[in-house]
Amino acid sequence: MALVGHGLVGLAMGGTVSASARNHRLTYIWPGIMMLLAYAVDLGEWFAIVLNPDLVDRRFFSHSPLLVAVFTVAVCIVLGVYCRLRRPWPFLIIAGVIFSHLLLDFHYVRLGVVEWYHGNNVKDYELSYSATFPAELCVYGGPLVWAVLLRASYMQGCSRVARIVSQVLVILSVAAAYSCQAMIWAPVYTVSVGHGLVLLRRHLDVRLLWNLVPLLPLFALGFTTWLAWERVEQGRLLARQGLDAEAVRVYETALNIPSRSGRLGVYMLMGYSYEKLGELSEAERMYQQALVLCSRPGWPETAMADFYVRHRGTPFYRPEQALAHFTRLLETDGTDADVQAYARERLRQLRKRGVIPKIVRHERRRVGGTSRSEVKPTNQGRVQGPKSKVQSPADF
Ligand SMILES: [Zn+2]
Repeated sequence: MALVGHGLVGLAMGGTVSASARNHRLTYIWPGIMMLLAYAVDLGEWFAIVLNPDLVDRRFFSHSPLLVAVFTVAVCIVLGVYCRLRRPWPFLIIAGVIFSHLLLDFHYVRLGVVEWYHGNNVKDYELSYSATFPAELCVYGGPLVWAVLLRASYMQGCSRVARIVSQVLVILSVAAAYSCQAMIWAPVYTVSVGHGLVLLRRHLDVRLLWNLVPLLPLFALGFTTWLAWERVEQGRLLARQGLDAEAVRVYETALNIPSRSGRLGVYMLMGYSYEKLGELSEAERMYQQALVLCSRPGWPETAMADFYVRHRGTPFYRPEQALAHFTRLLETDGTDADVQAYARERLRQLRKRGVIPKIVRHERRRVGGTSRSEVKPTNQGRVQGPKSKVQSPADF
């Protein structure tokens, strides 16, 4: 999820609806509700996970605009009746806040934001918190800063000078955002929001703390997600020290936490640890679990394929199945280019080493006319596959 982006956009959009447009209802709680609605999709999925843990990694809400539309209509009815909304634009803002979630979580939007901020060297699987957090703060914090400044400068009693300063700060914050440097945009944003809050000081009230109430589910969601993430990190540390039995136990506790953090990567890590412990049937089971959770062919499939060619002399040495997995990656539309390049390179290596039996190779040629070109090495230096036998799947 767009970790901070949802909240910033929700606040910025919610701030455009004045209290008078809401018949002065929800005055001290409106921004909190808008922030909550901005995360509604994630929260809906999280509550479903609490009830049924198997739903994790299935984005049944975020991938269903129809379900989101039904939810939006329900929220509009409740808020519309309670606030006696007469004009259409508060409804548009409510719908915009809820639907902004889908846009912000759209993979290419997230990737685009991170690429814009960090340059074009970011790979799909590098959408880590450390990369997305500053990028989202910069990109989605901008509209919030502008909303605060413009709102403050058009308040009654705002002097001309204060208004000009606000407008200058809007221009400066746009320029600061374009620098993509936290050292530049962070202070400019802070000064801008500070200026806006000074202008709005007469409207600031201790009762605004009520806004924290709608945010309580968000804090709970954030806490469980952090807890699960922390356990996984602990497990990885133990695995790195060679303590894989302990690592597996810690991974299991992470799986038992009802959080929004994906289970796919945890199953992969457990598979690697079981492999190192020599418990191959358990390792296979973990990789299969990861495959079940994977919505489209990707790195888990390469891990499964590599597993089947790693343990010669055991029942888990199945080059035919490895071939089938690599082939599926090459033949499925929409598979990540890096994954395909990796699969191609691995097939080339396996053929060179004679791991893929001749009869299978013959079968392969017969299956599709394109197979020859598919198993060719890329020679483009684009293979981004595992550098070691056991690849970290943290960013899948
Ligand atoms: Zn999200």
